[in-house]
Amino acid sequence: MSRTGRVFSLLLVVALIMSVFALGGCATEQPAEEPTGEGTTTPASEIKLIEPGKLLVGSDTAFPPFESMNGDVAEGFDVDLMNAIGEKLGLKVEFKTEIFDTLISTLQAGGKFDVIASGMTIKPDRQELIDFTDPYYDSNQSIAMKKGSTYTGPEDLAGKKIGVQSGTTGEAWAKESIKDAQLVPFKNATDAFAALAAGNVDAVVNDLPVTTELLKQDDRGLEIVAQIPTGEQYGFGVSKDNPGLTAAINKALAELKADGTYAEIYKKWFGIEPPAE
Ligand code: GLN
Repeated sequence: MSRTGRVFSLLLVVALIMSVFALGGCATEQPAEEPTGEGTTTPASEIKLIEPGKLLVGSDTAFPPFESMNGDVAEGFDVDLMNAIGEKLGLKVEFKTEIFDTLISTLQAGGKFDVIASGMTIKPDRQELIDFTDPYYDSNQSIAMKKGSTYTGPEDLAGKKIGVQSGTTGEAWAKESIKDAQLVPFKNATDAFAALAAGNVDAVVNDLPVTTELLKQDDRGLEIVAQIPTGEQYGFGVSKDNPGLTAAINKALAELKADGTYAEIYKKWFGIEPPAE
């Protein structure tokens, strides 16, 4: 190779190296990944699932019209909504019955279900343990008693036996608002109402839409004596280790609200249009 030839090749190599750097500059236009200190980064979009292709759902399936068992098939507002979310995410949804009070600790322990769909109220103390999706239903509390009972305010229940579902917002309200209440905890709402009908408790404090549903076709002589406007909102619960799943459910939920599917499911179970956002 002549001397000019060598100089030319050298220039060519320099030019090539510079163009590689220029291209590299383009390629790094994606947002730089935040260092985690562990040498790895988890992309925000990653969804962790216990079983590939499946969304396993933990639920206290004795809480109509949100979830109840029809034979061995779960049905209800939460069930339809979860199935619609699963469809958007390309996942097969499977409900697993759990006692309400153990849902959060079981989700945290991992390995049994990916998400909680159980008429669960979003509350700060729960948010310390798990993440919640955006709210999907507005709820309140209620007090039910035997027909003919007088109820003018929580003071009428002072010292009385109050049936509640363990670990619920109804239990928390009763504890706070009824003086010297003797709280009688049950594993689910249906058991609490059976105790009320049997005269084993004087009143049951429970989520209003569920008590309304449970007493709709009930001939045991029970009635709602008070509605308590607690202004609760239900959300789906997801492990704090799985932010990708929370984000994916939120995205699907927003799409279902925008395309009318949410309203359709709401009307099916509550007979009315959902409240305006
Ligand atoms: N919404 C109530 C709560 O979160 C009750 C839920 C339930 O019993 N499934 O505590």
